[in-house]
Amino acid sequence: MSDIRTCTEDGCQRSGSVRCHISWADEHVVCTAHARTRSTGGVVAEPLADAEWE
Ligand SMILES: [Zn+2]
Repeated sequence: MSDIRTCTEDGCQRSGSVRCHISWADEHVVCTAHARTRSTGGVVAEPLADAEWE
């Protein structure tokens, strides 16, 4: 349980602002940049309420 929204990608220090729902894995929060790279192939990216898209 964590309220800290930090991108879960290794080595990424950006704040997480998009929740990715992946059919074959647990959901996780990533930054907008990583959300773009992941929003293909069955991944549903759901921007959080306070997301700020660049
Ligand atoms: Zn990231």
